[in-house]
Amino acid sequence: MTSTPADGFRILAIHAHPDDESSKGAGTMIRYVSEGARVMVATCTGGERGDVLNQAVALEPMASRDLAGMRIREMADAARHLGVEHRWISFADSGLPEGDPMPPLPFGSFGTLPIEQAAAPLIRLARDFKPHVILAYDENGGYPHPDHIQSHRVAMEVYLKAGDPEAYPGLGEPWEPSKLYYDRGFNPEKLRALHESILADGNESPFTDWLARMESAPDPSSGWKTYETTTQIDVAPYIEQREEALKAHRTQIDPESAFFAVPAARQREIWPWEDYVLAESRVETSLPESDLLQGLRVESTSA
Ligand SMILES: [Zn+2]
Repeated sequence: MTSTPADGFRILAIHAHPDDESSKGAGTMIRYVSEGARVMVATCTGGERGDVLNQAVALEPMASRDLAGMRIREMADAARHLGVEHRWISFADSGLPEGDPMPPLPFGSFGTLPIEQAAAPLIRLARDFKPHVILAYDENGGYPHPDHIQSHRVAMEVYLKAGDPEAYPGLGEPWEPSKLYYDRGFNPEKLRALHESILADGNESPFTDWLARMESAPDPSSGWKTYETTTQIDVAPYIEQREEALKAHRTQIDPESAFFAVPAARQREIWPWEDYVLAESRVETSLPESDLLQGLRVESTSA
């Protein structure tokens, strides 16, 4: 059933910054494109307040002169590797605030906007593109960057309101998406499995501290929610292609980083899936799932 062509289906992935699409759910997008679905990535900000995280690129003059321009080109390159359609939503990057006390977010940046203003261009896009499935972050934003949390809010608004004829008048014909998933790509079960394979191969694991943080119980006062995986998508054939997309974000991704600590062939043996939480659904489905389109595909055979 998993090889059923996905012709006629549309998936919209809502991300905060360029590179997020390639580190969260990239294999899934490649897979559904290869099955015939249309996949659209919407990037809410330009990522212009990010740092250059790849030392080799930091020395290039362009990196200090025009980071925003570099990231536009990197995103186009990544979209080619993924085979997806792409839209810039072009809000201002909020940056990751640091310090004690935390400085306020830059005036007018994505994270500061009221939901009606932040969601409006995504509502318009959803009414135009008509996605069946939305890929989003959970309330924690995956990690608590203000632009990721705002991306979550915007995705929920699209799921709940894009189909409401009373909401957001003038932004197109109402369209109701059928399912919404939270990305769970950096889940502790997967990191644990990768970590143990690295140790078994006699190497040092870059995941030790990360895992310790993830596996310690969250402070109950933090409001941090945890989820269980409901949906695993097999992306085994697409792991190399996923890595090429991620490496296209040269300013952000060091090719020596933990992302590439486990070779693709080994990942295929250990964790060939990408993991999601089915957070909302207007169609009937049964959990666990191995297909984002479960409940949407018209089954050609009946028992
Ligand atoms: Zn991001």
